[in-house]
Amino acid sequence: MTQKPPPTLRLRLDTSALAENWRALDRMSGSARAGAAVKADCYGLGVDRCVPVLRDAGAASFFVAHWSEVEMVRRHVEPGSIAVLHGPVRPEDAAYAFATGVVPVINSLHQAKVWQDAGGGPCHLMVDTGINRLGLGMHEIGSELVQSLDVRTLMSHLACADEDSGMNAQQLAKFRDVVGQIEHREASLSNSAGIALGKDYAFDVTRPGLALYGGVPRAELEGQIGQVAYPEAAIIQTRQLEAGDRVGYNATFTAQRAMRVGVVSLGYADGFLRCWGGAHVVHDGKCLPILGKVSMDMIVIDLENAPDLHEGDWVSADYFLPDAAQQTTLSQYELLTLLGTRLKAK
Ligand SMILES: *Cc1c(COP(=O)(O)O)cnc(C)c1O
Repeated sequence: MTQKPPPTLRLRLDTSALAENWRALDRMSGSARAGAAVKADCYGLGVDRCVPVLRDAGAASFFVAHWSEVEMVRRHVEPGSIAVLHGPVRPEDAAYAFATGVVPVINSLHQAKVWQDAGGGPCHLMVDTGINRLGLGMHEIGSELVQSLDVRTLMSHLACADEDSGMNAQQLAKFRDVVGQIEHREASLSNSAGIALGKDYAFDVTRPGLALYGGVPRAELEGQIGQVAYPEAAIIQTRQLEAGDRVGYNATFTAQRAMRVGVVSLGYADGFLRCWGGAHVVHDGKCLPILGKVSMDMIVIDLENAPDLHEGDWVSADYFLPDAAQQTTLSQYELLTLLGTRLKAK
């Protein structure tokens, strides 16, 4: 069989930082235990690479959004430790939960009915305390159907935990009220940013996602969370420009002087969007400006500061998430989840 050549782009993961981030968030959760949000393929970084690391660090609750995400995660952890946030909308969803042993999150009276009609059993319950997304209304908790559920984890979700908003305390008060109204084994309110709001918000289980993967949603987490994801790509051509030469689609960059440039195999199809135009990549601590527009499969960079770089050498996107978000105006969540499949291909 013909051997495939190695790729010219890759997503390097610092798995020690990933484990350390989980431990830091678990510590900050006080007497609560930290779980891990592993939806969207671990925020784009890859379930197969991240879930075993989180499991070995000590995580014992894993949150996915879709039923389709169960299969990948189940290869690495006990099915009973997997919670499906979108819940059983259709009878097939409930049947799949029974067949696999994963635990649905019940979000509405409709979902409660689907679950109980299918036979019921242990489930989680999401109550809406103000985000008005998924979750049972506060006024619905008293219903017989809801009271008949066997609730393991009673949850709610904060809308503004990454801001100093009055809504945080309001949601906390409402959730405390809910906790007194329905039997459950444990309670859970906080995502990554919620953990930074302090022990009042921790309850029994926390659900960090973003910060596991290197995101810093609140200042309190600065210095506690390490970068995990490093998109890297190789130079596939170098060329010499003369003053007046222009670069890329729509010729938006014009060389002011003779300069050596490199063509790097990373583009917007890999999630390196056009908003990176005018920014830089890094090599060996040096910033190498991106010239002109980002193409689908490549960018052109200024090699003035790196005369030692040639075809086949690697550069890194500057992907420290808080800074990258400022640079691009994308959110830290988007910067992770948009990373493309070619970056992860072997
Ligand atoms: C995605 C998600 C989380 C994780 O949130 P982060 O802000 O990424 O830490 C926690 N809980 C629920 C219900 C979620 O949907």
